Amino acid sequence: MTSLLAPDLQPRMLGGLEIEPEEARSILRPQKDERYGFGFSLNPYRGCAHGCRYCYVREYPHPLRGGEGALRPPETWGAWVSPKLNAPALLWAHRHRLHEQTVFLASSTDPYMPLEREFRLTRKCLEVLRDCPTTRVLLHTRSPLVLQDLDLLLQFGPRLTVGFSIPTDDDTVRQVTEPGAPSIPSRWLAMERLARAGVAVSLSAAPLMAIRDIPAFARRARESGARSAWAGRLRLLNQDPFYQVLAEHGWLFILQPDYGERVNAALAEAMPRPPSRRRREHLKGKAAVAPPLQLPDARQLALFQGDLA
Ligand code: SF4
Repeated sequence: MTSLLAPDLQPRMLGGLEIEPEEARSILRPQKDERYGFGFSLNPYRGCAHGCRYCYVREYPHPLRGGEGALRPPETWGAWVSPKLNAPALLWAHRHRLHEQTVFLASSTDPYMPLEREFRLTRKCLEVLRDCPTTRVLLHTRSPLVLQDLDLLLQFGPRLTVGFSIPTDDDTVRQVTEPGAPSIPSRWLAMERLARAGVAVSLSAAPLMAIRDIPAFARRARESGARSAWAGRLRLLNQDPFYQVLAEHGWLFILQPDYGERVNAALAEAMPRPPSRRRREHLKGKAAVAPPLQLPDARQLALFQGDLA
């Protein structure tokens, strides 16, 4: 039977991932709770190829296109992604809502999954946001692919922060808990490179996983250029199968409240203190003689390019 779908909406497989492009009905999700620090979230994709095993989004209802109300089973999370082909156009049409707002990319996907190389939906949405002069952006990712948009990120100036999710210092933990996501060393290097280029970066160790050396982790956050860092506890759903994963690997200790407190205390200790008001006033007159940005050395860049490939 011939498909009635336009060619760019045809589903296909890409390296084991089911790609089902779609036209979204809306793209800006309002966030009314001010504690989150943003007014809208924006997800250029539905689904997430990183397939983190603790991800609560897997339990959301994900309708199957043409499935007449049928939902994708939670166990297929990480095996499918729907790029929202009209996301940049929708955002452009609704840009009047973004005056003096903060937009968070992304609450239920990673904006820099590998298929962003092909679809460039995150980039095109960022181009719209760049042209909204009073809009701030919080970009949150686990992927060094964010570096492909460094030129664009720099155009935002202080209106944009990139938050890196680095919940562990141990890549063997990452391989179990975030099987489709980039390695932990590649995230540190990406964060460092963004920071050295002048992009504001922050670290989020959330949901917090097992960390081997907490003080060294906190020092690495500082050395990688994070302007802020925090750890957020894992919240498990009722009868969450991830509990079993933690039990099998001897990681149940991460559920203890004092574990998160210890990591947060170490991060707070390691982070540079924000300057006092008096110091800020003093620095105002010194801005013209601030030292030039240091670029990463060639060895780090070479390592990093290899990780991006
Ligand atoms: S990267 Fe975020 S959205 Fe994607 S699977 Fe992991 S936790 Fe979920």
